[in-house]
Amino acid sequence: LPQVIIIGRPNVGKSTLFNRLVGKKLALVDDQPGVTRDRRFGEAHLLGLDFTIVDTAGWEDDDPSSLPGRMRAQTEAALVGASVALFVIDSRAGLTPLDEEIARWLRVSPVPVICVANKAEGKAGDGGLFEAFSLGFGDPVALSAEHGQGLADLFEALLPHLDAKQRERDEAEPEEEVDELSGPLKLAIVGRPNAGKSTLINRFLGEDRLLTGPEAGITRDSIAVDWAWTDPKTSEERQVRLIDTAGMRKKARVVDKLEKMSVADARHAVDFAEVVVLLLDATLGLEHQDLKIASMVLEEGRALIIAINKWDVAEGPSGLFNGISAALADGLSQVKGVPLLSVSARTGKGLDELLRVAFEIRETWSRRVPTAALNRWFDDALAANPPPAPGGKRIKMRYITQIKNRPPSFVVFGTRLELIPASYERYLVNSIRRELGFEAVPIRLTMRSSK
Ligand code: GDP
Repeated sequence: LPQVIIIGRPNVGKSTLFNRLVGKKLALVDDQPGVTRDRRFGEAHLLGLDFTIVDTAGWEDDDPSSLPGRMRAQTEAALVGASVALFVIDSRAGLTPLDEEIARWLRVSPVPVICVANKAEGKAGDGGLFEAFSLGFGDPVALSAEHGQGLADLFEALLPHLDAKQRERDEAEPEEEVDELSGPLKLAIVGRPNAGKSTLINRFLGEDRLLTGPEAGITRDSIAVDWAWTDPKTSEERQVRLIDTAGMRKKARVVDKLEKMSVADARHAVDFAEVVVLLLDATLGLEHQDLKIASMVLEEGRALIIAINKWDVAEGPSGLFNGISAALADGLSQVKGVPLLSVSARTGKGLDELLRVAFEIRETWSRRVPTAALNRWFDDALAANPPPAPGGKRIKMRYITQIKNRPPSFVVFGTRLELIPASYERYLVNSIRRELGFEAVPIRLTMRSSK
């Protein structure tokens, strides 16, 4: 696996980032500088990219007077063999003299550097983020390792450095795609408290294995439950792996905790799932919080289905359905045509259809387009609507390749691609969706310029 190394002065959040990427609480994290003691290696997974992540925090605890010297020696040792370095700064604190000094070492290193402006949740990090532009490592990636925000941007920044290796691996394992679709469908049900998630899971599993109702107060860690679903239409038996998180049953006492909990739950679920079902409550309609969860699922590159639950007690169902459909088209413009279904966890209505759609969308999400077909589409799309020439500068788009699936991710190669306006990127994305059959799933498009 390629190596990605995390570099930065003490207390900028290196360990938190490491843990976020490895997905386990391996390291002790604390607000005190110097809590981590060893240089650590972990296997990282970020939206389908696999790499070894190296945290270089090990020298932080000794005599602070010699810190820069020891950091430099350690950093240089760690950089050997790394594909890319993540230079982490604290965007709340802004750049410090030690940051500037580390930047100077990194500038002379042959390893490519991505500047990560951490602690960027909310607006408090804006100042530091702007300062980070001055470091000369290109656009910094704003993220919050602690809150798990900005990981899609980090993915995009890492992709050009890791994709060659990833592609080699993908080509070496062409049978992978078959496995991807024959394995159990990893499905997560998310939604605000009381949307009916537990009821739905109970219904699926056919027994009262989770307590439901406003009184439920059990807490447990999240577990995956395997279950065989028989499609009544085809009598085909298909395997489903459902995630079942503690928060689905845990009912917080304080109202403002509820909001946070459902989002945290959803985040956990998307780490696990191929397909995420966002459950709405027909008696409440679509609320801001629902859109937030939906956007997060799509930003993390998962296939999304929206199901309006409690359809058995919905008032004015057709108006309700159309209203929600219109609100989604508006509020979820990044992916057009996210499937919208009506269901009842209580009566079972619409649940087989929901699963059918889930299996279908997993296929779309896992699809690969052969390079030749992709480039035929590309030539047509450019001919139909040529890229603009901002300020008379000619943008040259040479070819496109699908570097991965799940979610489908494409890279365009060419020159001066950084000048491409967002509207033109949207044109390409929409055309990929329509012409190549990627409707309703998130896709990624990255531009990669060569000199
Ligand atoms: P969770 O917090 O999302 O897990 O929600 P629960 O599954 O605990 O459900 C919350 C409440 O909604 C419970 O009182 C359920 O009985 C009720 N409920 C769930 N699904 C349906 C449904 O399809 N129709 C109706 N009428 N009520 C439902």
